[in-house]
Amino acid sequence: MAPVVRRVAALCLLVALAAACGSGDDPTLAIPGDTTTTSSPPDAPAPGDAAPTTAPTPAGGGPQETTVPGASEPPAPPPGGPSWPDLDGSGPPGSFAPSVLRADRSARVEVQVLTQPGAEPRRGTLDHLAAVLRQVTGGKEVVLTGGTVAAQRDAWTAAELRAAAGDVRQGGGTAVLRLLFVHGRYADADGVLGVTVRGDVAAVFSDEVDAAGSPLVGSAAIEDAVTIHELGHLLGLVDLHLATGRQDPDHPGHSRNRRSVMYWAVESTLVADVLQGGPPRDFDADDLADLARIRG
Ligand SMILES: [Zn+2]
Repeated sequence: MAPVVRRVAALCLLVALAAACGSGDDPTLAIPGDTTTTSSPPDAPAPGDAAPTTAPTPAGGGPQETTVPGASEPPAPPPGGPSWPDLDGSGPPGSFAPSVLRADRSARVEVQVLTQPGAEPRRGTLDHLAAVLRQVTGGKEVVLTGGTVAAQRDAWTAAELRAAAGDVRQGGGTAVLRLLFVHGRYADADGVLGVTVRGDVAAVFSDEVDAAGSPLVGSAAIEDAVTIHELGHLLGLVDLHLATGRQDPDHPGHSRNRRSVMYWAVESTLVADVLQGGPPRDFDADDLADLARIRG
C-alpha cells in the first residue's frame, strides 16, 4: 500500500502545482465549438447513480435556482461606495477568493454549472454546494445556473477546460464561478477526480468519480466531496490566497487533516482506498477560519 500511496501523492503534488501555476498566463478564449450557454438550468441528475449515500433526486430535474424572486436584479451598491468594483477571475486558483467572499466585492454569487449530457451532478451535490457557499460568504445570495459544455474530449488539459468555461462578465455586485462536470479525464496528470484551473473555473470528471466508488464508499459521496474540495480551491484553500503555513508540505494547496474536505486524497481516484470510511465532505475549523479571514 505504501508505494501506491506514495505514487498517488506524487501525482497529487503535480496537480496542485498545475492548479497553482497553470492559469495566469493563459486568458480564457471563447473557441467556436467550445462555447457554453448559461440560460438553461442543469439537466436532471444522471440516471443509474443510486449510490447509498445519494440524496433523493427529483424526477425530471427542473431549475436549479436556489434564490428568491427578483434575484436577477443587480444587487444594491456596497455600503460606502459609489458602485460595485469590477472583478477579475482570470488569475490563478485562489486569486478570486476575496471577490467571492468579501462583502465589499460582491453581494451575490452565481455558480454556473456547465455539464455534458450524462455527466451532470446529483441534486444533493448542488444543494450542498449552495448551502456551503451561503455559509462561508456570510449569507450572500447564491444562485446556481446551468449550461452545457459542447466540446467532447477523452482527456482535458487545463487550457481546454478554461476554454470550455468560456468568458463571463464579472462584477456589478455578482461574482461568478464556473463548475464543469465532464466526461473524460484530466490530461495533465493521472488519478485526478477534479481540478481547479483558474480563479473562477474548476472541473469535476464525472466518469472518474463514478469509477472511484466502491461498495463501501458510494460515488455520490465522492462527487459531493470533490465538488466541495474544488470550491475550496476556488475560495483560496489551502494557502492559495493566505499564507498560513498550514498547507500539507507534501501536497501543496491541501490540508494535513484527513477529516477536512481539503485533504489531498479527496480529489484522487484512490479516494475510496485512502479514506475507507468515506471522504470528508465539509471544511474543518481551520478551513472555515481561513475563509472568515479572507471575508474580512
Ligand atoms: Zn485539491
